[in-house]
Amino acid sequence: MKAIVLLGAPGAGKGSAAEKIKERTRYQHVSTGDMLRDAIKCGSEVGLEAETYMKRGELVPDEIMIRLVEERMRSGGGDAAYMLDGFPRTDNQATLLDSALERMGGTLERVFFLYAPRELLITRLTGRRICRSCGANYHAVNIPPAVEGVCDNCGGELYQRSDDQEDTIVNRLEVYNEQTEGLIERYEKAGLLARIDSDCGVDAMVDVILEIL
Ligand code: ADP
Ligand code: ZN
Repeated sequence: MKAIVLLGAPGAGKGSAAEKIKERTRYQHVSTGDMLRDAIKCGSEVGLEAETYMKRGELVPDEIMIRLVEERMRSGGGDAAYMLDGFPRTDNQATLLDSALERMGGTLERVFFLYAPRELLITRLTGRRICRSCGANYHAVNIPPAVEGVCDNCGGELYQRSDDQEDTIVNRLEVYNEQTEGLIERYEKAGLLARIDSDCGVDAMVDVILEIL
């Protein structure tokens, strides 16, 4: 089994890039944010615990996260390939991932660090709108749907994630700076890091990533 990691601040475009990479490779998209939101929706124990943290823009405890991710990575069999989006987010999670991969006989192939300046992150997050039915992403100003509030793909209703309000966004970016940014150095030292400029848009980013892969 093999895995790649998409690393980057909230709003750097990890989710959008992952959606496109998934279509063009055999990497399965593992988004811990989506997994947690699903857990909340179905009212599971994990969901109930995660919700309080997520509402505040704080991190869900590492033990919960590694359990979720390992369970997901065991489900695909020995030659599966995974693209981790939003995990690891702390140094401890990275260590837990290393041991989980060792247990499963998997390897971490590459870590892609998606970079964008702070002002752009905030603009992207405050404007982000998501389709309730198919999950497609829009932006109120930059990528508006043809009809306001309605998904171009499926006609579903567009909504704003509850943690995409300005106060929570500022906190999420702070948490990123304090807890996740250190991972860049860790993976750089391990010779796994590739820096990808997220300024030029998702398609350009995906092309560079696929070339490296
Ligand atoms: P973003 O990267 O835009 O902040 P995500 O959907 O990846 O959005 O994550 C949303 C929230 O889910 C985070 O703010 C955090 O509370 C929780 N979360 C997701 N992944 C992790 C993780 N690896 N460790 C801890 N909490 C996580
Ligand atoms: Zn839709």
